[in-house]
Amino acid sequence: MPGRILIVDTVATNRIVMKVKMLAAQFRVDVCATRAEAEKCIQNNPPDLILVSLGEPVSELHEFCQSLRTSPHTQNIAIIAMGVAEAPQARFAALDAGADDVMPRPTNDALLLARIRSLLRVHSTHQELQLRDGTRSALGFEETAATFETPAHVSLLSAAGCPDSNLLATLTQGLGQIVRSLDPDTALRGGRLRPTPDLLVVDASDPDQIPSRFFGLVSDLRARPETRQATQLVIVPEQADEMAAMFLDLGADDVVSNDASPAEIALRAQALIRRKRLHDRLRDTVRDGLQAAVTDPLTGLFNRRYVDPHLSRMTKQAVASGDAMAVMMLDIDHFKSINDTYGHAAGDCVLKQLSKRLKNNLRAIDLVARVGGEEFLIALPGTTAAEAQVTADRLLKVVNGQPFDIGDLHQPLIVTISVGVAMSPNKPSQICEPNAICEQADAALYAAKSAGRDQVAMAASIA
Ligand code: GH3
Ligand code: MG
Ligand code: MG
Repeated sequence: MPGRILIVDTVATNRIVMKVKMLAAQFRVDVCATRAEAEKCIQNNPPDLILVSLGEPVSELHEFCQSLRTSPHTQNIAIIAMGVAEAPQARFAALDAGADDVMPRPTNDALLLARIRSLLRVHSTHQELQLRDGTRSALGFEETAATFETPAHVSLLSAAGCPDSNLLATLTQGLGQIVRSLDPDTALRGGRLRPTPDLLVVDASDPDQIPSRFFGLVSDLRARPETRQATQLVIVPEQADEMAAMFLDLGADDVVSNDASPAEIALRAQALIRRKRLHDRLRDTVRDGLQAAVTDPLTGLFNRRYVDPHLSRMTKQAVASGDAMAVMMLDIDHFKSINDTYGHAAGDCVLKQLSKRLKNNLRAIDLVARVGGEEFLIALPGTTAAEAQVTADRLLKVVNGQPFDIGDLHQPLIVTISVGVAMSPNKPSQICEPNAICEQADAALYAAKSAGRDQVAMAASIA
């Protein structure tokens, strides 16, 4: 896994030893001796992860972590604080200041490397989501407002569904949330972990348990669609560094020893929930952005950008299945005079209501799109010419049969439409070109207009 690591250590031998280890693991490495040097290096060439040890006073480390966390340019860089005393307060203080993990010296190399890999995985996911979010913003879509935080879904998975009451209390109190307790087998059986939990705490701390059972559980949870996005915190027995390393490599987001203070466990759990929420939000904004890119904001119908590829797929499918497909072009009659007489807002009102009437009178599988100012395209799969004619006549009545509301100042308004209908060829030997079908439907629409409007015309090719 590619990654740039910055080693910041006041002790020369530590710097050299760590650099050798990181180079051996194929990371790109920068080395600094002081905080000032590190800050310059971070500015010029931001790393993905920092291994930091700043000696005494310890406040120097905390300030360094805090300053990285508060700047938008550096807040997502992973930090491992090296050589932190084993005392619970010292560990908590470094984590609280913003370190992602703390390691005493001497370090267990397997655990350190597994931790680095795990943090780099998160870092690259985050960068990828931010990149896509950036693309979305570049396309001109608004920032979505921060959503109201709903309570987190947290589940504690313990052997035989028998939760350690201290751990359950630590999580419940530390998170201020209801924590569901489940045994792993029940949890994996269909639907028990829905909606997707924000955090799964796997209690693998009983030294008498067979660890492979929990290894399987962690990788299974990481692989399943319903739990893949949940974060995982694994509680391991004391002095079980190799086991902790294994859990991280199998997909756990964080591991913590059984003897950690309740405050540390709660802090790590909170950080994972925050991360999950952030990634959810980034994913949602990307999805909403894509949705916005193919939707017309006024009517909520699909736009031209969506129609082209979708209609192409629909025609291919029609030919492959031998089913008939109808395409309609529909245009509001004398729409310009509605705007001219009652104003643009009244025109918009008509467009919105008309879109709703069309949608409500068609099937879910039909494609309804706004392809011009007052022009709509409708594609009806599995529909014969005769059925299309009936549908078009019905749409005509749905529009002209009930006046449109255009605000309190005016009487409801009678609006009419003209419709042109064409059919997709339904024999594999025929060339099916969506543009050609649309042109035929357009020509039929023109004929309907010429013949006096408020009517349906079938394309000349329909025998
Ligand atoms: P025809 O019966 O031949 O279709 O005549 P028409 O007046 O409907 O057609 P024309 O193409 O002359 O005018 C269409 C009008 O639609 C002109 C344009 O200002 C208006 N228009 C286009 N987009 C919008 C919109 O989003 N809102 C409103 N209110 N008007 C729009
Ligand atoms: Mg018109
Ligand atoms: Mg028009």
